[in-house]
Amino acid sequence: MEQEKNKNFIESSIEKDIQEKKYGDRIHTRFPPEPNGYLHIGHAKSICLNFGIAKKYGGITNLRFDDTNPSKEDTEYVNSIKEDVEWLGFSWDDRMFYASDYFPILYDYAVKLISLGKAYVDDLSGEEIHAYRGTFNEPGKESPYRDRSVEENLRLFQEMKEGKYQDGEKVLRAKIDMASPNLNMRDPVLYRILHASHHRTGNTWCIYPMYDFAHPVSDAIERITHSICTLEFEAHRPLYNWVLKDWEDPEGQKPQQIEFARLNVTHMITSKRKLRALVEKGVVRGWDDPRMPTISGIRRRGYTPASIRDFCERIGVAKADSMVDSALLEYCIREDLKLKVPRIMTVIDPIKVVLVDYPEGKTETLIADNNQENESMGQRKITFSRELYIERQDFMEEPVRKFFRLAPGKEVRLKYAYIIKCERVLKDEQGNIIEIHCTHDPESKSGTGENANRKVKGTLHWVSAADAVDITTRMYDYLLTDNEEDGDKDILEQINPQSLVEYQSKAEAYIKEFKQGNSFQFLRQGYFVIDPDTTSDHIVVNRIVGLRDTWAKMQKK
Ligand code: ATP
Ligand code: MG
Repeated sequence: MEQEKNKNFIESSIEKDIQEKKYGDRIHTRFPPEPNGYLHIGHAKSICLNFGIAKKYGGITNLRFDDTNPSKEDTEYVNSIKEDVEWLGFSWDDRMFYASDYFPILYDYAVKLISLGKAYVDDLSGEEIHAYRGTFNEPGKESPYRDRSVEENLRLFQEMKEGKYQDGEKVLRAKIDMASPNLNMRDPVLYRILHASHHRTGNTWCIYPMYDFAHPVSDAIERITHSICTLEFEAHRPLYNWVLKDWEDPEGQKPQQIEFARLNVTHMITSKRKLRALVEKGVVRGWDDPRMPTISGIRRRGYTPASIRDFCERIGVAKADSMVDSALLEYCIREDLKLKVPRIMTVIDPIKVVLVDYPEGKTETLIADNNQENESMGQRKITFSRELYIERQDFMEEPVRKFFRLAPGKEVRLKYAYIIKCERVLKDEQGNIIEIHCTHDPESKSGTGENANRKVKGTLHWVSAADAVDITTRMYDYLLTDNEEDGDKDILEQINPQSLVEYQSKAEAYIKEFKQGNSFQFLRQGYFVIDPDTTSDHIVVNRIVGLRDTWAKMQKK
């Protein structure tokens, strides 16, 4: 079986359910973000998994906003989440839901559990509940309010709902087992009082369901078959099943929770809370700053939906937490853009070169390939003239060993053009290089010259000064200095101060034909995209990724 070896454990389990007709022929998943921040690369994994699996087995996926915690949620986040899921290429069709829409059903179901003697109103404070809970080694202690009558519990719960009590005065708890070895089963809280305005229900409610209650019931209401979540909920699974014991499904089918390992990526922060701190403290320019591991940041950085989906596919689904190298993500975008985007010449940090033996006022039109690896992308014209720019880094006055680029007395080839030789270096009073004077070999013109095939060690990209376009280039490095975030240290101390360096660059005139969101390769420099900060008279580009494939190197080791 060809496909067998590529199957992950979630797919195997779904295929078993299909065979056993556990859910008839239904496969129904959901993606349940809490609208309290922008989605990040970890969420992309969850989106690809939930939507991808349903698609693979002919099922459907709901988008559900898990908005049961009124204090931190906002409509701005709802909108960004919708945009991100769509951008990734997935569709929830007409199935967009809010857990807050289920507040009345959740309330009724809680009342049902009370009536069955399976839930009670507790007057213990949060601290007391915590103290009574016990530890891994010691059983918990039962609350003195645990044995209230059903009638009293029903009355008190209704009063909680009506706003008779202050925040924290009472809670509704499940009546399970204070001695359970699983701490989640020691009478967990199902409802708490919170006099807070909710972004959708306003002040209608002052009691709000807890995640462990709201989530399984929302899944059951939507008739989800496979409720896929991250590993930290594994120990909550018995509670998930306990909550749904008394749920009546028209076909007696109940959703099942399946856990997989969270995605962690080197140099990336995957916690909405911490990402929000970076935005609020002004460390980055916003949620969509191209350095952010948010989907909106990654999008602005120039990543494509296909590259993100490819990344999520390649990392697979694991049962144990692990760290994925960001070099893999970079590999995926290079692979996606390699044959699709044009390769042009831009000098990021320019230094002027004057060809002293090239006639003033003369220009030549040269032919350049748009993509050396994809002939179908055709060719374009570039202008050559006496004054040019090359990369500051491509010149060394006192070259180190193995420096094959330009240096006094040394020759290099200018891509698509001539071989030039450095004759003289001009400096200002402070000793900074302002111009490099060179001569050229008129017979060395690429393609046509007699010395067209004369070999020199280095080939440089360049731009003709006459028609160069001034652009701003934003070069990014990882936001986190270390591979992994250190939870014990302040996140702000772990931020790379060099994560953004801006250059005033010179691009070939061809760049004017591109618009916001278009990407290209700058020869020898990496892949770039035109940023939304671009105006009608000034182009701003982001470097998506450099050309060096560190992923392939790691695979060879
Ligand atoms: P955060 O810790 O960043 O706030 P969260 O898990 O609280 O993340 P939710 O909005 O509740 O954020 O997540 C929506 C879905 O995305 C959940 O099913 C969650 O399990 C999944 N998810 C979140 N982070 C990751 C991750 N790093 N890898 C895989 N899935 C994730
Ligand atoms: Mg969450």
